[in-house]
Amino acid sequence: MSVTKTAVKKKHNFSAGPAILPPVVIKEAALAIRDFNNSGLSILELSHRGPLLTAMFEEAEALLRELTGANEDYEVLYLTGGASTQFFMAPMNLLNDNETAAYVNTGVWADKAIKEAKAFGNIVEAGSSKDQNYNFIPKKLKIPADAKYLHITSNNTIYGTQYHRWPKLDIPMVCDMSSDFLSRPFDINQFGLIYAGAQKNVGPAGTTIVIVRKDMLGKVNRKLPTMLDYMTHVKEHSLFNTPPVFAIYGCLLTMRWIKSKGGLTGMERHNKKKARILYNEIDSNPLFKGNVKKEDRSLMNVCFVMENPALEPRFMQYAKENGVMDINGHRTTGGFRASIYNAMPISSVKFLTELMQEFARTNG
Ligand code: PMP
Repeated sequence: MSVTKTAVKKKHNFSAGPAILPPVVIKEAALAIRDFNNSGLSILELSHRGPLLTAMFEEAEALLRELTGANEDYEVLYLTGGASTQFFMAPMNLLNDNETAAYVNTGVWADKAIKEAKAFGNIVEAGSSKDQNYNFIPKKLKIPADAKYLHITSNNTIYGTQYHRWPKLDIPMVCDMSSDFLSRPFDINQFGLIYAGAQKNVGPAGTTIVIVRKDMLGKVNRKLPTMLDYMTHVKEHSLFNTPPVFAIYGCLLTMRWIKSKGGLTGMERHNKKKARILYNEIDSNPLFKGNVKKEDRSLMNVCFVMENPALEPRFMQYAKENGVMDINGHRTTGGFRASIYNAMPISSVKFLTELMQEFARTNG
């Protein structure tokens, strides 16, 4: 097959995260390691309090605000500890022991957020898709009248489900946006707090972005460890301690790229196009099928299986031989998962669909 032979050297990276970044970001990041902004110094050896990096941090904050529409009512932070730290840091900062918060259980990550939050308040599951192996987004929610916030996971990386319409609420949402942050526009005003590990759509691993509405903070009466108090980082513009400089720079470079491609609207257009190509193939190819409810399908993590599971190792091998990397499903779900974040080019998605067609021709 000509397609596989000519493209075999190129690696198509469908990893769920850390994930593909735009080539220009890799190039600029590599350059900055040798010589940051013609300073004659590597970004890895610069003081985080020096002028070169101060300008970089300021741009990283400004661009994050510009892309998300976070105005002065919101604080934007670059923290560490991954989204996993936010599972407890958010309730610790937002909820008193005797107060209630509602959580939607849409998978492993949501479940972890629920488990951690239980240490800090009364946590109620407002909806769950657990009994159907998390293959849909629960729409009918039971939210207690006294709930301070509703926690959701906007995109479920492992199962390939995504919110395409936000719940209608009169309380703020707290959202784990780790796997679709900056991949589409959203109305920030519906959110009291958003957190996202950077390593999918935004940059390299090492920093976690938090956007929090100012009026959510300062309401709990428990004593917070200094590093786990959002106010500490707010007051110091994420520079209370040494920040993950290089990871933040990677985010800045990616955000410049996102802006140059039409911002979040441009990203959504591009992401919808790619997802349509891949889902069309899954739906029309007799060997493959999707495994989540169509209306909830993720534009980021496309999960699918084969009609005949015995063929799955063969297709996996065939894909690998042709430079298609990391399309195996999560260890808890099996099957396949092709992650097609912002930086994934349409050409790689088309290449995968061509392999699926070729495999069907020879194995159908
Ligand atoms: N939430 C979601 C939706 C995720 O996909 C992940 C990581 N894959 C996490 C949370 C955990 O993120 P981290 O590894 O940054 O703690």
